[in-house]
Amino acid sequence: MANQDCQTEDKLRRELVRFSKWLYRLGFMPGTSGNLSVRLDRERLLATPTGASKYLLRSADIVVVDLEGQQLAGSRRVTSEIGMHLAIYRERRDVEAVIHSHPPVATAFACAGRPLDEMFCQEAVMTLGSVPLAGYATTGTDEVAASLAPFVPGHDAILLANHGAVTYGRDIFDAFLKMETLEHVALVRLAAHQLGCIRPLEEEQAERLRRAKEKYMQNAV
Ligand SMILES: [Zn+2]
Repeated sequence: MANQDCQTEDKLRRELVRFSKWLYRLGFMPGTSGNLSVRLDRERLLATPTGASKYLLRSADIVVVDLEGQQLAGSRRVTSEIGMHLAIYRERRDVEAVIHSHPPVATAFACAGRPLDEMFCQEAVMTLGSVPLAGYATTGTDEVAASLAPFVPGHDAILLANHGAVTYGRDIFDAFLKMETLEHVALVRLAAHQLGCIRPLEEEQAERLRRAKEKYMQNAV
């Protein structure tokens, strides 16, 4: 392996460890739950192993798999939920990183059968857009990819019924920001519900925000 490739892989491994700890500290990955991955190149991914506390994860624990989920390197076994990640990478060539976690309030919405698709909060429109709820699927099986398939092309964050959430983006930081925002939006939605008077954005207000987002994204490129 060329020296530069080694440096890139080292850096990506360290980032996966850093964001694993961050997500653990936020309470999004209790026990050994949750998993992260990034593209190493067009054919390979780096991913977290199964059965690992994300607080104790080390760079050497990260494993390498191909886009079929075959493990190519690593002393530990890849996460049993890798199928979820593969389904997203195959469908979205623009996606460089995927995070699956169980943030408590967003997961409560997923357990109550409630998507977060109502536009009630400006930040939600500007960052996440609508967050659909994928149908029930047994974790670690092909059912998960099938349940996500209708939503992956048009969304960057999806709730998984009775399970948790998945977000993805142009790098691991982008995927992390979406997961953090998703939990924030779920918490605000819950609090507004408790106050008893949610006032969704009007369609025209939401449309203006979407246009502002497009402009912002063009400037950011
Ligand atoms: Zn899970």
